Amino acid sequence: MGQAADANGIQFKLLNRSRGPAVWSPRAQCDKGLYSSWVESALAGTPGITTLWGRVSRVLVSAGSVSGVAFEDGREVACASLVVTTGTFLNGLTHVGRHQVAAGRVGEAPSTELAASIRAMGFTVGRLKTGTPPRLDRRTIDFDAAVRQGLFTTEPGDEKPEAFSFLSKARPTNRAVCWMLHTNDRVAGLVRDHLDESPLFNGQIQGIGPRYCPSLEDKIVRFPERERHQIYLEPEGLDADEIYVNGFSTSLPAEVQEDLVHALAGLEAAVILRHGYAVEYDFIQPTELSATLEAHRLPGFFCAGQINGTSGYEEAAAQGLVAGANAAKRARGEQPFRLRRSDGYIGVLVDDLTTQGCVEPYRMFTSRAEHRLLLRIDNADLRLTPKGRECGLVSEERWAAFTERRRRYTANIGVLRQQSIVGPSGRRDAALTVLRDPRASLTDLVGQGELRLETDPGRPELDLQTLEAEIRYDGYLQRELLVAAKSAQEHDRPIPADFPFNRVPGLSREMVERLAMVKPETLGQVSRMAGATPAAVAVLRVYLPRLVSGGAQ
Ligand SMILES: Cc1cc2nc3c(=O)[nH]c(=O)nc-3n(C[C@H](O)[C@H](O)[C@H](O)COP(=O)(O)OP(=O)(O)OC[C@H]3O[C@@H](n4cnc5c(N)ncnc54)[C@H](O)[C@@H]3O)c2cc1C
Repeated sequence: MGQAADANGIQFKLLNRSRGPAVWSPRAQCDKGLYSSWVESALAGTPGITTLWGRVSRVLVSAGSVSGVAFEDGREVACASLVVTTGTFLNGLTHVGRHQVAAGRVGEAPSTELAASIRAMGFTVGRLKTGTPPRLDRRTIDFDAAVRQGLFTTEPGDEKPEAFSFLSKARPTNRAVCWMLHTNDRVAGLVRDHLDESPLFNGQIQGIGPRYCPSLEDKIVRFPERERHQIYLEPEGLDADEIYVNGFSTSLPAEVQEDLVHALAGLEAAVILRHGYAVEYDFIQPTELSATLEAHRLPGFFCAGQINGTSGYEEAAAQGLVAGANAAKRARGEQPFRLRRSDGYIGVLVDDLTTQGCVEPYRMFTSRAEHRLLLRIDNADLRLTPKGRECGLVSEERWAAFTERRRRYTANIGVLRQQSIVGPSGRRDAALTVLRDPRASLTDLVGQGELRLETDPGRPELDLQTLEAEIRYDGYLQRELLVAAKSAQEHDRPIPADFPFNRVPGLSREMVERLAMVKPETLGQVSRMAGATPAAVAVLRVYLPRLVSGGAQ
C-alpha cells in the first residue's frame, strides 16, 4: 500500500508535524484510477494468485468449518480458509433525502443473500452508517478567479514530501493542489431548514455513524457556536474531472445539495456530478473474532475491513494483512501470525476490535496506542520487518534493504558513542549527550560536517530521523520498553479456549457471559475488555493456573 501510494500519490502531507514524532501521521491523496490499475497489475504479477470474478451468495460449511463459497451464478469453489471483506455491501441501503435504494455503494447492488447466510450462522450483527460528499465537475469551477478573489486558498502539500514505503528511494512529488474554503451562514441556514428531510435526523437511518468524521448536518447541529467549517476541494485524479468535496458529506435531498453547493463562495455555478449519500450496512461484531481475525464460531472463516466495524483504507488494509496471512497459515497448517500492541498499530487495532467490539465505526488514532513513542513511522521497518520475515511475507529484496539499514543504524550509533562535538550550549560534549538537547539537530550537524554518518544516499533523512528520535527519547524509550516487556509477561499469560469462566468464584454472571463471547486468549485481553474490573482480573489471575492445571473438564 505504501509503494502504491508513493507511485500514484498526487499530494503528500505529514500531519501533526508541529508535534513530536510519536504522533506524526503521513497522509497522501492518490489518483484514484492510477492507484487501482497499479494495484491490479501488482496482483496480476504476483505468482500464486488467481482471480475469479463473481458475487458470492453463501458460505459453505462442512463438519463445523468453512469448506467453500457459492456464487450467485451457481458456481461453487472449495477452500480451507475464507477471508470476507464486503465493505458496506452487506444489506447495504443508501439514502439521499427520503429516497432509499438497496445498494452497497451508489449504483452497485447490495449483498443480501450473503448477509442472510452470515446471520443464519448465528453471528452477532450490528448496523453502522457512513456517508460521502457530492462530487463536482472541475470544468464548472473557476479556480483561478476564486483564488484571486480570496474565496479559495490553495493547499500545495508538503514542501519536502516523504515516501511511505521503505523501499521507495526517491522523494515522491506533489502533482496536484487542493483548495480550501469555508461554509457560511447560508449553508448553516439551509441545513437547519431541511433537517426534517435528513435521513440522519428524521429517524430514517438506524445505523450509528462515526463521531470523528461528522456529516455536514452533524457539524451544523452539534457545533452551533462555530461560525464556519473548513472544506477542501480535492481532485480525484490528475486528469479526472471529478472534484471530491472533503468535509461536506451529506445525505440531504438532491435539490437541497444543489442549493448547498451553490451557497458556497466560488461554487455558485458548480455542477454536481454525483450527489452525496449515506449508506447503512451490516457489520459483524468483531468480538466474534480472535486475534488472527478468524471467527470463534466457525474455523476457517476470517473477516477484514469495514465488515468488522472499521472505517478507513489503512484500517481495512491492516486487517487484510492479518486475516490474509493467517488464512494462508491455517490452510498450510502453520502457526498463526499475531502482533502485540507494542509491536505496531496493527496490533492495537486488532486487539481493540476483538476485545472491545464496536459501537460506532472504528478509526485508528495515535491516541489509542499506549506505547506510541515506540510506534513511530520512522522505525516501522525496524519493528516489523523481522516479524514479517518470520511469517514469510518479506521478499529477498526488502530483507536485503532492511539488513543494510539495520547495519547502518548500528554503525552510526557506534560512531556517535565515540565522538565529541560542540552543541548548542557552546560546550564540547559526547555526541550522544549533545543530541539529547532538543535544540540540537542531527541533520544540521551532519550538514555542517560536524558529524560523519553513513546514510542511505536516496533517503538520508530517514536514517537521521530514526537516530535522532532513538537518541533524544532514549530515557523514555527504555522505560516504555521495560513497561511493555513487564506487561507482556503478565498480559501474555494464555487462557485456553475451553477455560471454564463459570467456575471462577467472584465473577458476575454478566462478566462470565461477556468472557464466553469474547473468548479472550490472554489475561491482558481480559484487562482491556469493557466492564472488566481490576477485581475480576485479579481473581482470574489466581484461578487461571488452578483451573488449568486442576483440569478444566
Ligand atoms: C466515497 C468514499 C470516500 C472515502 N474516503 C476515504 C479516505 O479518504 N480515507 C480513508 O481512509 N477512507 C476513506 N473511505 C473509507 C474506505 O473506503 C473504507 O473504509 C475501506 O475502503 C473499506 O475497505 P473494505 O475492503 O472493507 O471494503 P471496500 O473497499 O468497500 O470493498 C468491498 C468490496 O467487496 C465487494 N463485495 C461486496 N459483497 C460482495 C459479494 N457478495 N461477492 C463478491 N464481492 C463482494 C465489493 O464489490 C467491493 O469491491 C471512503 C469511503 C467512501 C465510500
